[in-house]
Amino acid sequence: MAAAKAYIELHPSAKVVVLDEAATVGGVWAEHRLHPGLVSNNLLGTYEYSDFPMDESYGVKPGQPIPGTVVHAYLRNYAQRFGVLAHIRFKSKVETAERKEGGGWVLTVSSDGQQSQLSTARLIIATGLTSEPFMPALQGSEKFGAPVFHSKDLGRYVNSLQSAESVVVYGGTKSAWDAAYSYATAGVEVNMVIRESGHGPVWMSPPYVTPLKRWLEKLVHTRFLTWFSPCIWGNADGYSTIRNFFHGTAVGRKIVDTFWAILGNDLVTLNGYDKHPETKKLKPWTDAFYTGSTISILNQNFPMLKRIMLLNMKPSENLRTKAM
Ligand SMILES: Cc1cc2nc3c(=O)[nH]c(=O)nc-3n(C[C@H](O)[C@H](O)[C@H](O)COP(=O)(O)OP(=O)(O)OC[C@H]3O[C@@H](n4cnc5c(N)ncnc54)[C@H](O)[C@@H]3O)c2cc1C
Repeated sequence: MAAAKAYIELHPSAKVVVLDEAATVGGVWAEHRLHPGLVSNNLLGTYEYSDFPMDESYGVKPGQPIPGTVVHAYLRNYAQRFGVLAHIRFKSKVETAERKEGGGWVLTVSSDGQQSQLSTARLIIATGLTSEPFMPALQGSEKFGAPVFHSKDLGRYVNSLQSAESVVVYGGTKSAWDAAYSYATAGVEVNMVIRESGHGPVWMSPPYVTPLKRWLEKLVHTRFLTWFSPCIWGNADGYSTIRNFFHGTAVGRKIVDTFWAILGNDLVTLNGYDKHPETKKLKPWTDAFYTGSTISILNQNFPMLKRIMLLNMKPSENLRTKAM
């Protein structure tokens, strides 16, 4: 939507079409993907377009995460305010994009079971990282007798929050935590299953970190913090000497290692993983230094998880046997 808005502003007379396979705006925050308990990682103020502040009318207070319903409404208002909404064709899935000889693209679009072709001079792809669910092949799942679905579709199975007695959540990162939390707070018994061949539980950070209780989103946007991560484009910021010192000398590396060890220990202590043998299993397996984008913000009440079991289950093993 940001790309469409910018393009429309710069080329007001251009014919712009936004094709979205979903029925409503928002992508991750589209109506069909919302479910009770879904909130943003970010606290108010760090998950909004710079030219469209999320004001008080949304009812979110400073220091609060943003409910999914609010993010959806906000994105819809953005699309309306900047005239993007009128350009969107919903329920239109781009199946293929083929380069035309001499420039431009031909798109095959399916909509309501019909396929059509669309020709365009320019194509912007903004399909997100989470549009295609990854469903592992679980042997026996077709005969399991209970719904087996991806966390992306939790919104469609929202009734199971009331009707289920127990649920197995397979995965150890943010969406798994969200699903486990939603079911546990609805009074459903939750078993989390994290495969041993993966990277283990995600780093879940409280919103405020370090002994100085700094707001994480703001902290990661300070230049100082970026120096602690090696980056192939790092020298472009003009601070190559400092980066080379941190990552290219023994003393520098020691400082970097110490920094990440302190930060990691801080998160482990703040989350209180070691206070219970079950929560201990959710302690990250990877070094904080290597986390990259797999960090998430813990904006729910961690001890609410009723029962968390870690089973070393491989994707091909039988779901029913192991879950019991
Ligand atoms: C549950 C959840 C919570 C998150 N919370 C946060 C958060 O708090 N803070 C944060 O920074 N990030 C968060 N993220 C990451 C999130 O992905 C981004 O913040 C942001 O929503 C991504 O926007 P996007 O436009 O790149 O992609 P998306 O929001 O995924 O939008 C992609 C769009 O492309 C459409 N599309 C995909 N394929 C096709 C196709 N073939 N044809 C037509 N249309 C197609 C989809 O329907 C969708 O509308 C979260 C992600 C998830 C899943």
